[in-house]
Amino acid sequence: MSYAARSTIWIILYLLFILAPLFILLAGPTPPARDFWTEFSAALGYAGLSMMGLQFGLTARFRYVTEPWGEDVIYHFHRKISLIAVALVIAHPLILFAVRPELLALLNSFTAPWRARFAAISTYSLIAIVVMALWRVKLRISYETWHISHIVLAVVAVTAGLAHMVGWGVYLVDPWKRALWLALTLFWIALLLHVRIVKPLFMLRRPYRVAELRQERGDTFTLAMDPVGHAGFRFRPGQFGWLTVRNSPFRITGHPFSFSSSAEAQGGRVEMSIRKLGDFTSGINPSASASTSTAPTAPSPSAIRPTCMC
Ligand SMILES: Cc1cc2nc3c(=O)[nH]c(=O)nc-3n(C[C@H](O)[C@H](O)[C@H](O)COP(=O)(O)OP(=O)(O)OC[C@H]3O[C@@H](n4cnc5c(N)ncnc54)[C@H](O)[C@@H]3O)c2cc1C
Repeated sequence: MSYAARSTIWIILYLLFILAPLFILLAGPTPPARDFWTEFSAALGYAGLSMMGLQFGLTARFRYVTEPWGEDVIYHFHRKISLIAVALVIAHPLILFAVRPELLALLNSFTAPWRARFAAISTYSLIAIVVMALWRVKLRISYETWHISHIVLAVVAVTAGLAHMVGWGVYLVDPWKRALWLALTLFWIALLLHVRIVKPLFMLRRPYRVAELRQERGDTFTLAMDPVGHAGFRFRPGQFGWLTVRNSPFRITGHPFSFSSSAEAQGGRVEMSIRKLGDFTSGINPSASASTSTAPTAPSPSAIRPTCMC
């Protein structure tokens, strides 16, 4: 199937995943209609939460999803669409406060019921996600710290958002509608577990050994890696892989590096030319003065696990 056809299918599926849970709420018996703005703000809240949940899918790095666009485009989309999703979620209470000012009392988390507290937890987590994503460097937060907080805050935001919806319950009185949203949330969390646990488990079975560490000009080293007990993978020029080091593919943060070896090389060897920049790359390039020709840093066969994002 052509890339254009696959892209179209994924866009339709994306819209379906966002809009279907919203329209399903209108199936069967519905609660008495409220004023337009209250209903509109509720719809924004539901759509925003669906979009937030689907972010777990965008970052799950499923090859058949990323292939038509390329992973960089998917991440760019993830970043931009998050801002829209957060704007929808924040618009939800703002509209309610404007049309029903008595609801402002719910902002006092000491006296508010739990369903409102959950809404506050979800909204504050989303705001923290956006602030940290946009101003991470200015706030001097390291990439790794940011990455872990990003995941934790996202899970908190989505779970608390769901708890708020179930707690308020206007549209989720029917058990099957509640079950559907619960299943949807579990699906989003399962995507996260897939990335963090299932994928690394598969990577454990395809280890790489550091075969060579060559110094290039300046602060750059080339790391050559050979597959151990498997045939490796093929890549195309211009593609990159995610690198985790020191025996654990379970590390939260993998670092992206382009393949600098020939895509036609035989034997599964891959090379990455890595410039010393921060803590991770300094660990790869242990000494800028050494002109190392063997692989001393991590002799364990499972030390480095490149994965192709082809
Ligand atoms: C698609 C792609 C291909 C790349 N190819 C190469 C390459 O061939 N050679 C090379 O030397 N560098 C490459 N980089 C850059 C490389 O990933 C970063 O220099 C490296 O991750 C920095 O890590 P650090 O901890 O040493 O530095 P830090 O000081 O922690 O980070 C420096 C900056 O690098 C970025 N960064 C850090 N960690 C990550 C991460 N896990 N994922 C994405 N960005 C991160 C952040 O913007 C950060 O501010 C590539 C980056 C991307 C996105």
